Amino acid sequence: MRKNSPNIRALKLLHSFCPSYFLLLVLKSFFAKLSPYFNLYLSAEIINEIIGTRNKDTLITLVLVTVLGNFAIAVIGGILNRVFNHKETLLYQREAQYYNTKTLTLDYDNLENPEVRQLRRKITESSKINFHGKQLLLNSIGYLVNITINAVLALILGIEMFVLMFASGFSWLIVLLACLIVGLVAFNVWYSFRQKDKMGQVSRNVSQTMIDENRIDNAIDCYNIGKDVRLYRQDKLIMKIKNYAFDLHKKAFRTMESKRYKLNIPLTVAGVLLEAIIYVFVCVYALLGAFGIGSIIKYVGFVETIAGCITSYFSVFADIKYNTPFVEDYLAYFDIPQKMYQGSLTVEKRDDNEYYVEFKDVSFKYPGAETYALRHVNIKFKVGERLAVVGMNGSGKTTFIKLMCRLYDPTEGEILLNGVNIKKYDYDEYLAVFSVVFQDFKLFSFPLGENVAAGTDYDTEKVTSSLRQSGFGERLASMPDGIKTPLYKDFDNNGVEVSGGEAQKIALARALYKNAPFIILDEPTAALDPIAEYEIYSKFNEIVGDKTAIYISHRLSSCRFCDKIAVFDNGQIVQRGSHDELVSDENGKYRELWYAQAQYYTE
Ligand code: ADP
Repeated sequence: MRKNSPNIRALKLLHSFCPSYFLLLVLKSFFAKLSPYFNLYLSAEIINEIIGTRNKDTLITLVLVTVLGNFAIAVIGGILNRVFNHKETLLYQREAQYYNTKTLTLDYDNLENPEVRQLRRKITESSKINFHGKQLLLNSIGYLVNITINAVLALILGIEMFVLMFASGFSWLIVLLACLIVGLVAFNVWYSFRQKDKMGQVSRNVSQTMIDENRIDNAIDCYNIGKDVRLYRQDKLIMKIKNYAFDLHKKAFRTMESKRYKLNIPLTVAGVLLEAIIYVFVCVYALLGAFGIGSIIKYVGFVETIAGCITSYFSVFADIKYNTPFVEDYLAYFDIPQKMYQGSLTVEKRDDNEYYVEFKDVSFKYPGAETYALRHVNIKFKVGERLAVVGMNGSGKTTFIKLMCRLYDPTEGEILLNGVNIKKYDYDEYLAVFSVVFQDFKLFSFPLGENVAAGTDYDTEKVTSSLRQSGFGERLASMPDGIKTPLYKDFDNNGVEVSGGEAQKIALARALYKNAPFIILDEPTAALDPIAEYEIYSKFNEIVGDKTAIYISHRLSSCRFCDKIAVFDNGQIVQRGSHDELVSDENGKYRELWYAQAQYYTE
C-alpha cells in the first residue's frame, strides 16, 4: 500500500466515522488470540511437570493459573467483543449515512448521468454480493491485525524454542529446518499470488452475472410493473430472461469453483508437507533432549503458526491488491464534484416579493447529447406574473424549468435572479424561491402530512388548508387517519393507495405549503378528470395569489388565464404574447397548435 493509495484514503475515511474502531479491533483480536497460546504454554508446562519432578504445589499453581487466566481472558474478551460489535455497527451506519447523503446531494446532472448511475450500481451490488470495496478492505485489515498478533504471540514462544535448540548443540539441523520452512512458505506465497491473479477474472465474472440476476429479481419484485406483466403475459418472457441470467451465473460459478479446486491442490500438498517436516524436527530435538516431551505440542504450534502467518500475510495483501479497483470505485463516487454548491450569496429576502428571473441567451445541451435541447432563450418575468409555457412534446419546456431551478446549468448564456447570475447564490437559498410540481413528481410512502410538508415537523392547519386548496379536501375527509394516514403500502399495510389524479393534488398541495414566491406547474392537471381540472383553473388565481406562476402545458385551452404565453418549438421560444395576440397570428405555431386541439371540441 503506497502512501496516499486508495486503500489508505479509504481507511482514513472509515476511521473518521468511528475513531475508536481500529483500537478496539486490536484489543479484541489480542484477547481472542491470547487464549490458545496461554493454554498451549501452560498445558506444556503441566505435562513437563507431570513427566518431570511432579511437584504437587507447582502443579496446583499451574492449574489455578490456567483456570483463572482463561476466565479473565474470556471475560475481558467478551466485553471487548461487545463494545467492538457496537462500534462496528456505528461505523457502518455512519458510512451508510455519508454515502446516502452524497447520493441525495449529487448535482442533478450527475444523478441522471448514466456513468454515475453505473458507478453507484457497481459499488452497491458488488459490496452486497462479494463484500468487495470498503467491507473487504475492513475485513482484510481485521485479518492483518489478527495475523500480526498471532505472529507476535507465537514468536514469544519461538524465541524460547530457538534458545533451547541452539543450547542443545545441533545448530546445523536448525539451519536445515529453517531452509525447508522458508522454501515451502516462499512457494505458498508465490503460488497464492499467482492463484489470486488467476482467480481475479473468474470471480469478477461471477460478480457480474450475480449483479445481472439481481437486477432482474429487483424488477420482478417491483409491484409497479405487475399490471403490465399480467396484461401482456410478460411473465414467460421475464422468466426466460431470468433463467438465462441464472444459467450464466451457475456456469460462471462452476468455472470458478473448479478452478479454485484445481489451484488449491498444490497449496494443500505444501501445507501437509510443512506440517510433517515441523513434526519430525521438533520430535528429533525433543529426543535429543533439547526440551521436554510436553513442549512438542507447544513448539509445533509455534512453527506452524509462524509459517501460517507468513502465508496469510501475503494472501491478505493479495486480497487487498485484488480489492483495490473496487475501493477506487468507492472513492471515485465521493470525488464527484458538487459544482452546484459553490455559490455563497444569500438570496435577498424581499418583503415586497419583487423578484425577477431573466434568461439571457441561454442554450443547453444535456450531458453527452449531440443536439441542443434549448437554443438562445431570452425571457424575463417578475413576481405576480402568470407565464404559460406551451409547445409540442420534446420542444424544451421541462428543460427550461430544470434550468431555472438549477437542476442543470446552461451550456451557454446565463440565468439571473434580480440581476445576479443564479450560480452565485447559495444553492439551498436559491431553491427556496421555487415551488415546483414536475410532471413526473414523486410522493413517498410516508404519512400524507409529511408528504405535503416535506418534513416530519409540520403545521397541521397549513397542511390541511393546502390540501383543500389543491382540491384534495373531500378525499382528505375520507382518509382513515386524516393527514397522518400513510400513503401506499411499501412500509405500512394500512397505507392508502391514491389515484394518479389524487397524487397530483397532493403534489400541488406540497408546492402550496412551501409558499415560495415562484410556483411552477408542469402539466399540473394531466392526471385530473375534467371536473377537477376545471375546479383548479377556476380558482387558480386564488391558489397562486401574488406569486409568480409558471405553467407548462400542451393543453392550450388551460393557458388562457395567463398574462403571457411563451411558445416553445424545437428548443426555442418562437412566439410570445397573450392568447388573443398569438391566436390571431395566422402563421404562428400557437395558432397551429390551438386549432389542432380545438377541432376535437368544435366538430
Ligand atoms: P418537453 O417538456 O417540451 O416535452 P423536454 O424539455 O423534456 O421537452 O425535452 C427537450 C429535449 O431534450 C428532447 O429532445 C428530449 O429528448 C431531450 N431530453 C430531455 N431530457 C433529457 C435527458 N435527461 N437527457 C438527454 N436528453 C434529454
